[in-house]
Amino acid sequence: MQKKEQLYEGKAKKVFATDDANLCIVDYKDDATAFNGEKKGTITGKGVINNVMSNHMFQLLEKQGVPTHFVEQLSERETVVKKVSIVPLEVIIRNISAGSFAKRYGVEEGIAFDQPTIEFSYKNDDLGDPLINDYHALALKLATREEIENIQSMAFKVNEVMKAYFDKLNVILVDFKLEFGKTPDGKIILADEISPDTCRLWDKDTKEKLDKDRFRRDMGGVEEAYQEIMRRLMAE
Ligand code: ADP
Ligand code: UDP
Repeated sequence: MQKKEQLYEGKAKKVFATDDANLCIVDYKDDATAFNGEKKGTITGKGVINNVMSNHMFQLLEKQGVPTHFVEQLSERETVVKKVSIVPLEVIIRNISAGSFAKRYGVEEGIAFDQPTIEFSYKNDDLGDPLINDYHALALKLATREEIENIQSMAFKVNEVMKAYFDKLNVILVDFKLEFGKTPDGKIILADEISPDTCRLWDKDTKEKLDKDRFRRDMGGVEEAYQEIMRRLMAE
């Protein structure tokens, strides 16, 4: 596997071409951003943790029947993944009120829902990733009806697998964001990352935040929170 030219540099990862047109290499950075890139910083060691955690979650999900882009971890920060055309929807699942949900509807954080919720944001940095519904996603031809239904059922399946997994680590899976991509043969698979950057994770006993909210909200103990999640993952 040969790493070739850089295809893209995002806020948290770089993506490189390889000598295989169907594969690319993602390289996880320590750069952290919040509020659509307005707040910038570094979380030392984050890239390593997010790489290892994402790969751990993708392998667990594959075993449970969820197809993912994961192929092979190359190094602490680099992983070979199947190259997909990303469906420009951020898929957000929530089990407990927090973040933009709490703000939008004027409720406190920490309310456990009877059923998980799903919502989509249109993945478009210039527009600030606006909330979008399935009819608008269809109108904009971001995906087909079948693809959206498939994405929804996969996202709920991911939630069931991850909720049970984190519960064993004494962690509450509050909410998270997923991205899906399309392979050249038209199959929808789970892509991007699953990490404390993209999930809200609370300690079950103390409700302490073990995720990027510590960075967003200047709470301190950011690196320690990422390390604590990593420690629990590795201990399991
Ligand atoms: P952003 O683009 O939001 O700043 P990142 O820094 O995480 O995010 O950049 C990684 C980019 O790679 C994202 O745009 C993501 O959608 C894309 N991506 C993730 N997985 C794949 C994949 N398997 N194939 C192609 N692109 C991918
Ligand atoms: N999220 C993400 N990327 C985004 C927006 C949200 O990974 O661009 C994750 C976020 O970490 C949280 C969940 O999606 O776990 C729900 O985020 P929310 O809508 O509450 O937005 P935020 O509070 O981050 O603005």
